[in-house]
Amino acid sequence: MSSKQLEQFLTENLAELKSKGLYNVIDTIQGANAPIITISGKEFINLSSNNYLGLATDPRLIEAAVQAAKTYGAGAGAVRTINGTLDIHIQLEEKLKAFKQTEAVVVYQSGFNCNMAAISAVMDQSDAILSDELNHASIIEGCRLSKAKILRYYHSDMDDLSAKAKAARESGLYKKIMVITDGVFSMDGDIAKLPEIIEIAARYDLITYVDDAHGSGVLGKGAGTVKHFGLSDQVDFQIGTLSKAIGVVGGYVAGKRDLIDWLKARSKPFLFSTALPPAAVSPAIAAIDIIRDTPSLMDRLWENGNVLKKGLTELGFDTGKSETPITPCIIGEEKQTQLFSKLLYEKGVYAKAIVFPTVPKGTGRIRNMPTAGHTKEMLEEVLAVYEAVGKELGLI
Ligand SMILES: *Cc1c(COP(=O)(O)O)cnc(C)c1O
Repeated sequence: MSSKQLEQFLTENLAELKSKGLYNVIDTIQGANAPIITISGKEFINLSSNNYLGLATDPRLIEAAVQAAKTYGAGAGAVRTINGTLDIHIQLEEKLKAFKQTEAVVVYQSGFNCNMAAISAVMDQSDAILSDELNHASIIEGCRLSKAKILRYYHSDMDDLSAKAKAARESGLYKKIMVITDGVFSMDGDIAKLPEIIEIAARYDLITYVDDAHGSGVLGKGAGTVKHFGLSDQVDFQIGTLSKAIGVVGGYVAGKRDLIDWLKARSKPFLFSTALPPAAVSPAIAAIDIIRDTPSLMDRLWENGNVLKKGLTELGFDTGKSETPITPCIIGEEKQTQLFSKLLYEKGVYAKAIVFPTVPKGTGRIRNMPTAGHTKEMLEEVLAVYEAVGKELGLI
């Protein structure tokens, strides 16, 4: 017999989500998440993945996964601190350390887990965290878990950050103060103003924390936003994911040796959750080699992003203030945005509508994620479909 309280809670809340149009029906992909995907037996040009460099389906990564599974088995068998640390975990951390140019790196099961792990390992209720209002959900959850006072600042508003840092420092209320930002903001594709953030951090003695999930493999010759600005030795925490440009799954924290030693001793997902499986670790190692040795992959990603942005702008669409290949196409009103995405779908383009509350009211957009794997022909087709839908809805 199930609990009446639970039943009532679920019935009411699911009904509310559905009535507000916020209940997401999840599409199932038949086969690989590649530039062309199949859903319900129909093919689509895929503009919704985070597979920036197309590495998720790269034969070299697949081969590395197969070999690792054969050599090490399907699972790591334990948490890292008991006996789940395999030599390939250490190789991956060494590889990432060289890539990020930091003293040390610790790998976790996901980027989400990194934020669950790292923030609360260092910050507690006697501390404060300055957090960009558009930071990723996992950062927000990680901050909450730490019980530190959360002080949100306006998105990339350096005057606001500076004023709030000053006030927090002068209040004398907090022991440690941290500033946390995404490296690249995933909804608009804009880059955090790291040089200014570092300057403010120096002025008010702030711990610096950059989650570069969307910057790694995209900016700074692949090493990310911090490297892009030449600030590798000035950021305390650099978070990365192995799930986006790297094409597999997992996450990591890069920083000073003492910081990483502390995270290995104290962070909960490291201590209490099983290590990444071999078939994720080895392809991630292969991916980093490929990114380092093949700058043309990143060139193609940026080229494709630029083709899409230029094409959409010339058609009369607003692509916002993106500084990266992430290409929003801002439609505006929520229902219109949903309809736009549906019409793209009907014409064979898979690009998701992002609306309030994920982005501010009236700024609904289609979020296009081109990758290095898209061909010119695919992008031309996408632009033709955008033109047709835009005209159909009288937007251009
Ligand atoms: C995607 C993302 C994550 C989560 O990474 P996963 O490896 O998919 O868990 C964390 N932080 C930011 C900023 C992200 O964009």
